[in-house]
Amino acid sequence: ENMLSIKNLHASVEDKSILQGLSLEIKPGEVHAIMGPNGSGKSTTGHVLSGRDGYEVTEGSVGFLGKDLLALDTEERAREGLFLAFQYPVEIPGVSNMEFMKAAVDAVREHRGEPALDSVSFMKMAREYCKAVNLDQNFLKRGVNEGFSGGEKKRNEIMQMMLLQPKLCILDETDSGLDIDALQVVADGVNALRSADRSFIVVTHYQRLLNYIEPDFVHVLAKGKIIKSGDKSLALELEEKGYGWLDPSLSGAV
Ligand code: ADP
Ligand code: MG
Ligand code: MG
Repeated sequence: ENMLSIKNLHASVEDKSILQGLSLEIKPGEVHAIMGPNGSGKSTTGHVLSGRDGYEVTEGSVGFLGKDLLALDTEERAREGLFLAFQYPVEIPGVSNMEFMKAAVDAVREHRGEPALDSVSFMKMAREYCKAVNLDQNFLKRGVNEGFSGGEKKRNEIMQMMLLQPKLCILDETDSGLDIDALQVVADGVNALRSADRSFIVVTHYQRLLNYIEPDFVHVLAKGKIIKSGDKSLALELEEKGYGWLDPSLSGAV
């Protein structure tokens, strides 16, 4: 059975049609990379899947673990095991990262019928995951994303992923703004989470990330639909030839 099954998805933002017939099937355990020129709809895809306000689906369907994803609200999607990095980009002063994550983990565990973790066990786990992503434990006490640098936000997200144990993780440009060391930490975190029943969509502009997180499939999204799919060698080919190779009208797109 598919983890995710996107069929002929059309979506608009503010009456502007962005996704125009996107289809994609992801099986459990697979890592799919999505590349493509700026403005092709990569981030929109993540937002539509996560159920963000303002994105209107006008046609098509999305099945997620046998459920109609589009019928669920954002919180329900998260509880079902969908995780979009940058889902929580906002700073929430006064609410500590730890309180915030404890509430999120409690909700997911309750939904799965698992017993709630007591604070001590939760803290132990959170500290361990902080260590795994090289994040100082003080980050647990700080306000959510409050004053975090770009790299710290991303490492914090990987830590959130470790705590939530999602089924499908969507990482949107996780590599942008990361130095090589931070990239390695983030990639190690993602790779540690790879398993036979967890899938990933990795959106990236650069082939480089895919040296660290090896995808099973690479797709090129252009003008709101997938115009080419292949294995990881496609990313290398794109790096060399650009997107104009696939569609001359994309030449010079950045
Ligand atoms: P990508 O992530 O591939 O660079 P996006 O999904 O961010 O592309 O954007 C796709 C298109 O949708 C772009 O033309 C962008 O300007 C437009 N878009 C995205 N969000 C909005 C919005 N809130 N209002 C209007 N247009 C938007
Ligand atoms: Mg963009
Ligand atoms: Mg984007």
